Amino acid sequence: MDAALETQILDAVNAQFDDELSFLKELVAFPSTRGREQAAQSFMADQLGARGYAVDRWQVKVEDIQHLPGFSPVIGDYEDAVNVVASHTSKSQQGRSLILNGHIDVVPEGPLDMWDQPPYAPHIADGWMYGRGAGDMKAGIAANLYALDALRRCGWAPAADVHFQSVVEEECTGNGALACLQRGYKGEAVLIPEPFDEQLVTAQVGVIWFQVHLRGLPTHVAYAGDGANAIEASIPLIAALHELEARWNSEDRKNPHYAAHSHPLNLNVGKIQGGDWTSSVPAWCVFDVRMGVYPGQDLETARAEIEACLRMAAQDNAFLRNNAPEIVYHGFQAEGYALADDHRPATMAAIDALEDAHTRVTDSALDRLAITATTDARFFGLYADTPALVYGPKAEAIHGFNERVHLESLLRITQATALFIANWCGLEPL
Ligand SMILES: [Zn+2]
Repeated sequence: MDAALETQILDAVNAQFDDELSFLKELVAFPSTRGREQAAQSFMADQLGARGYAVDRWQVKVEDIQHLPGFSPVIGDYEDAVNVVASHTSKSQQGRSLILNGHIDVVPEGPLDMWDQPPYAPHIADGWMYGRGAGDMKAGIAANLYALDALRRCGWAPAADVHFQSVVEEECTGNGALACLQRGYKGEAVLIPEPFDEQLVTAQVGVIWFQVHLRGLPTHVAYAGDGANAIEASIPLIAALHELEARWNSEDRKNPHYAAHSHPLNLNVGKIQGGDWTSSVPAWCVFDVRMGVYPGQDLETARAEIEACLRMAAQDNAFLRNNAPEIVYHGFQAEGYALADDHRPATMAAIDALEDAHTRVTDSALDRLAITATTDARFFGLYADTPALVYGPKAEAIHGFNERVHLESLLRITQATALFIANWCGLEPL
């Protein structure tokens, strides 16, 4: 690309960066946790519509997607699960088409007294914006939107079709991104600005969520010896799962993309419930587990290993031996995905275009990163033959307290995204 044009685009991102931050503040103020995404999606639809894009807004329906590869069992209903896609249709159709994807859902904020400021009252201090979702990943949505705006400001539009997606469900199933595939949205590449510190994600783990349901034998605590404590029965089962985790992380099982990671697959007991009364031996306990898997690791085999592990551990417990734990899969049944395993010329070209843009903005090479989490990239990469580039700003404390995104980093990501769109799609006059 012409150096003067590049400079003009970078300046345009700069000139509207205050507007971008105002937009981001408004977006972070929506508490768009699971089941409460609708207001934030209405805001997105309005913003996109006001820019003249054709806006498609629809409720995700389980029956439309449940037969598709990558579907995960649903948690709760889909009343509020609304996707928004805005499309730019190119007049010249000279370039390569693109999907700009981001998720609107955020994870629960946790105990409010652990935040220095309320999580949905975003504020800026010392070069960071704080708030739940500021980093993961509303800043990425802002980058996608204002990168397109910067091109418009310079009098240009992408010379190929671009679909801007704001999806739900990334944090628990990925069914929002899956619903976009089902609805027919296609692109020759997808960019997802998840907050991984201006690095290109080359591999991501898969994730399995499951619940373990335990039954006990309730008695008055005075006769506890006659009862069976369902809550305490979880302790040896959790220990056994951590032994499985250690085996999967051992050198002989490790996936080559994670050679530099000491512990890529994390098992997390994220929730536990059980019992009804302090002086009653609890009759029930349910705990929720998240386990990582490697790219290429078969989910069905992984689930069979988990089940065998729990069955074995239950054998050591007198009560559980005859009252086997029940395992229920809900939420993520997500395969791992490695962009680095995709050697097709189109994928190489997409990476090159991003690397050029990144280098022009930062004066440094594009670092690569294998992440120990999942993203919606897997749907595009595994089920739609679309190279999926995950590249976004620096953020801290995502899923934690005082979540924040670094503003200079967001500026650079927005600039690099604008140049990437220009590189990849080409430009035509507005
Ligand atoms: Zn995210």
